[in-house]
Amino acid sequence: MPPVSFLEIPPAEKKLIQRRLLSWFGKRKRDLPWRRTKDAYRIWLSEIMLQQTRVAAVIPYYARFLEKFPAVQALARAKTESVLARWAGLGYYSRARNLQRAAREIVAGHGGKFPSEYEEALALPGIGRYTAAAVLSIAYEKPLAVLDGNVARVLARIGAVRGDLRAPALWRSLEAEAQDLLAQKTPGDWNQAMMELGATVCTPKSPHCKECPVSRWCQAQKLGIAAQIPDGRRKRATVKLTLAAGVLLDPQGNTLLLRHENGDGALFSHLWQFPALETSARAASDLKKYLQNQLGIAARCALTPLKTARHAVTFRDIRVRPFLIHVERLPDYDGARRVLLHQLADLPISNLTRKIADAAIHAVKKID
Ligand code: SF4
Repeated sequence: MPPVSFLEIPPAEKKLIQRRLLSWFGKRKRDLPWRRTKDAYRIWLSEIMLQQTRVAAVIPYYARFLEKFPAVQALARAKTESVLARWAGLGYYSRARNLQRAAREIVAGHGGKFPSEYEEALALPGIGRYTAAAVLSIAYEKPLAVLDGNVARVLARIGAVRGDLRAPALWRSLEAEAQDLLAQKTPGDWNQAMMELGATVCTPKSPHCKECPVSRWCQAQKLGIAAQIPDGRRKRATVKLTLAAGVLLDPQGNTLLLRHENGDGALFSHLWQFPALETSARAASDLKKYLQNQLGIAARCALTPLKTARHAVTFRDIRVRPFLIHVERLPDYDGARRVLLHQLADLPISNLTRKIADAAIHAVKKID
């Protein structure tokens, strides 16, 4: 089924919309680090970091990442572990792994330059239609419109379109409308202007229509239904998960970390974490059994409870009950890593592991 057109804006009016929005963007755009460059690598990095993550949270990570990997070649030749260490805390770690895979392909197959052809960009790991269009339009001025949640909301409101915007047929229509409305001569600025409008003015809950440069053409605003678009999507129910984790500590201050792949106790695959398992109300005894069976730690060892750590990610609400356990010597365990407790920050670990380590360090200081 071909996409249905719903904006029905005459060509002369389209030019006016483009002029208005671009002029607004020129005056009101936020000064963001990735807007000060045309380097495709830097723009690509920002787009990947911004997936599922707020601008304010991304800014410091972006700077730190570029400090270590200033060019695609540096990223391609780095150890994956050091890439993950710079990403640690930002979440959704498959983004970092794909980023590096793509960097290696760019160096090996594209002479170290992010490809300027859409199909070639799409063929890289971790790059979908949105990211390819964003990078190519902003870095190379390719006339490709982006469509993300912000842009889709703006377009749906202008056309007063109801329904689930992510439904495939509607999404295809929105893609066609976005492409049709694109300012062909300045696609990079146009795409950023649409995204900026969605992020700062045409916001999900209460759009600021009085400040909107395109309100004149907006059907939803005229009908007084702007805040009702898009229709609410049904949210996936939150899954609550409780884990027990053991911070083992030998007399020299070393602890033991594991890298669980998916499965019991795996919070973040490929990141280092304390030994952990899923538990219920009997966290301490479950952990004791686990440590005894898996790591050969004596059942009589004392478990000191630490502050419970919480972490909410997409639909998972994770609660970790950590325990400090002093041992004479750390067990030998295949694939485990020994590291000084206060030096965990150099490794790829999650914020949750960091919080548990901080609680353990605090507890040790109190005892000393
Ligand atoms: Fe969004 Fe209001 Fe502008 Fe319409 S007028 S695009 S609803 S901010």
